[in-house]
Amino acid sequence: MIIVMEKSIDQEKIENVVGKLISRGFDVHRSTGSDHTILGVVGDVASLDTREFELLDGVQEVVRVSEPFKLTSHTFKRERTVVDLGVCKVGGRDVVVMAGPCTIENEKQLFGTARAVAKAGAKVLRGGAYKPRTSPYSFQGLGIEGLKMLRAAGKEFGMTTISEVMEISQIESALEYVDVLQIGARNMQNFNLLSAVGQVRKPVLLKRGMSATIQEWLLAAEYIMAGGNYEIILCERGIRTFETYTRNTLDISAIPVVQKLSHLPIIVDPSHATGRRDKVMPLTRASVAAGADGVLVEVHIEPEKALCDGPQSLYPEQFVELMDELRIIVPAVRRTLA
Ligand code: PEP
Ligand code: MN
Repeated sequence: MIIVMEKSIDQEKIENVVGKLISRGFDVHRSTGSDHTILGVVGDVASLDTREFELLDGVQEVVRVSEPFKLTSHTFKRERTVVDLGVCKVGGRDVVVMAGPCTIENEKQLFGTARAVAKAGAKVLRGGAYKPRTSPYSFQGLGIEGLKMLRAAGKEFGMTTISEVMEISQIESALEYVDVLQIGARNMQNFNLLSAVGQVRKPVLLKRGMSATIQEWLLAAEYIMAGGNYEIILCERGIRTFETYTRNTLDISAIPVVQKLSHLPIIVDPSHATGRRDKVMPLTRASVAAGADGVLVEVHIEPEKALCDGPQSLYPEQFVELMDELRIIVPAVRRTLA
């Protein structure tokens, strides 16, 4: 349920309504727009008589939100969420490029790749230290050692850093070393992990599960928002379909669908979506043309030697080309390249 307060009313009246809701056992989330404050009320609202609140001083209207996701919905927040990553903002006019290796392997590989992507114009450096590998015999990541390297590389090249956490115990180290926490596709419905990152006050990139519907994905984001962390970036990374030629099938339509349903920014990972580096460029173009707020791309200085996801990792020269393409496409869709 949401409560829309009257335009430009006193803070005191808002506090009065909030106090009443809290005393009735509800959680209240505020969304302060340019002219209205909206209160998102969560808890057992089904039994509540909305008139009780409609009659309070300063209340313009009380609306029951029909979607199962509430705080992530456009009804709760009319303005788009812009997530500030320090060196750039995601969700505003800018299109943001995040790039780097799938996994951090060693200093030479990470710094070499970071130097190349920074020079080409990427603002955010990716690199996994805790890797969700399908096989237990595959390289599992360098852990904290890797996170330390990522922080050093981010500092050296003036980039914001992003890395995945797979379980609650990894959050603490990630908070110390990285700027954005990534929740991977395989953990999109790890509800305990989602609630835990809901408690932190750093941006979270939430990938879509490979078999998740858009509604399930937004409900996963709802877990994070319900904890009070509103800095969420959604990432479409392809879903499982009957097609086997590509690793996954990129659901381009998820971009406008999510933008209609939610205020959260959405970016696309064309690397995991296709699993093949020759498909990364066309799908990056398509994603930006469809309205994505950014892309997350795997790049490696020597993809043939990569310990993880080599076939989908771009060569640095290809990444330069991709950035050149974006410099044409981004203004054509009336956005700016961060
Ligand atoms: C990754 O970004 O390296 C990754 C494992 O992605 P996903 O969770 O989308 O498979
Ligand atoms: Mn990968």
